[in-house]
Amino acid sequence: MISEEEARRKILEAIRPLPARTVSLSDALDCFSAQDVLAQLPMPSFDNSAMDGYAVVASACRTGERLQIIGEQPAGLDQHLRVSDGEAVRIFTGAPMPAGADAVVMQEDIRRDGNEIVLNVDVDAGEFVRRRGCDLSEGQKILSEGERIRAATLALLASQDFSEIAIGGEVDVSIISTGDELVTPGTKIKQGQIYESNSVLLNAMLKRCGAIVKLVEHCRDEHKSLIEAMKRGIKNHILIISGGVSVGEHDLVKDALHEVGAQIDIWRVAIKPGKPFLFGRVPSSSPSPQSSPPGRGGREAPDEGSILAADCFVFGLPGNPVSAFVTFLQFVQPAILKMMGATNLNLPQVPAKLMVDLANDGDRPHYVRGKLEDGKFTPIGRQESHALFGLSQSNALLRVAVGESLEMGAIVNLQLLD
Ligand code: AMP
Ligand code: MG
Repeated sequence: MISEEEARRKILEAIRPLPARTVSLSDALDCFSAQDVLAQLPMPSFDNSAMDGYAVVASACRTGERLQIIGEQPAGLDQHLRVSDGEAVRIFTGAPMPAGADAVVMQEDIRRDGNEIVLNVDVDAGEFVRRRGCDLSEGQKILSEGERIRAATLALLASQDFSEIAIGGEVDVSIISTGDELVTPGTKIKQGQIYESNSVLLNAMLKRCGAIVKLVEHCRDEHKSLIEAMKRGIKNHILIISGGVSVGEHDLVKDALHEVGAQIDIWRVAIKPGKPFLFGRVPSSSPSPQSSPPGRGGREAPDEGSILAADCFVFGLPGNPVSAFVTFLQFVQPAILKMMGATNLNLPQVPAKLMVDLANDGDRPHYVRGKLEDGKFTPIGRQESHALFGLSQSNALLRVAVGESLEMGAIVNLQLLD
């Protein structure tokens, strides 16, 4: 059994980012930039009005002054007007400033009198003018390599005349759930059977982190069927197997993996829940028979210098739903994010006040599920690895280290789930 930190380190060492690709902005949300992006325009790109009002020469504008309206400048094409002392140009939000004008007086601050205005206020230079480059200078970094692309990032890129963006590769994933006792929801169940839920859980979590689920299969605890399912599963970048990784006679995953050519790098990690976790890989050069050549979304040919880019990484998650959930978040999600080119692989963390006493006298760090509300954290439901209800009510995880004893009222760091 290795430590959680060691497991994470080993996994992330093995994983390499996939080759980048260029997509249109509309396909880039929640992907990760494959390069630093610099502003190619200053923002705003010309001096313009922040208000509907009148463009004026500030030094000639005192309360009570009368100005002659000499023209109109709407947002859009520059009308190339020029303003002098004693004159004003009717102007609208976003319209380019006329030559000579250095301020805009709001329409609420004047009285209109035919083709003239009378000022109700003094005017200072620069008022209600958005200066060229005040938000952003040309050449300034607007996006870093590995940064997640959010809605506002996309808007900024569009405003900078980018229609496409280079992002990290798409991660294709297979899910195989195992277990003779499991029945697909929607089917009649017999005494002793339960409904299969991990593939639903994993499918949702994978979609959430931006991976593409290419294959979802359920497989009985039977050697031959497992091998056949695995042969299909290893055609994608990642194969996740749920269940069958413990030490019982019905836990056949490890042997089957060996048979399809997998090298197992990690088996059993000091984490609660989730101890039977497994990590391995099927090298691209694996001698294992492949029933058909990889199609679209199949494993890519290794590119020079990065043989691992074409390996299939295998994660064996314990079958208990909470164990599958926790090990997915701690080990699988960071690996997928790294493959997708992300820099930050961690769940977001926030401090919160603990509402109960908690101690860990076990030999593994314990991930306690609970609810964070108004800065307060309360564990919720049964803290056992099969207890899916409590998990479904939780929005945060608290990691309690081995030997750690936390008192009610302590400020703790939570991992956010939502
Ligand atoms: P295993 O890891 O295969 O020993 O399974 C541990 C526990 O998790 C058993 O109680 C299984 O019935 C349950 N389990 C395994 N796989 C699933 C699944 N896909 N959906 C729901 N429960 C599961
Ligand atoms: Mg099982």
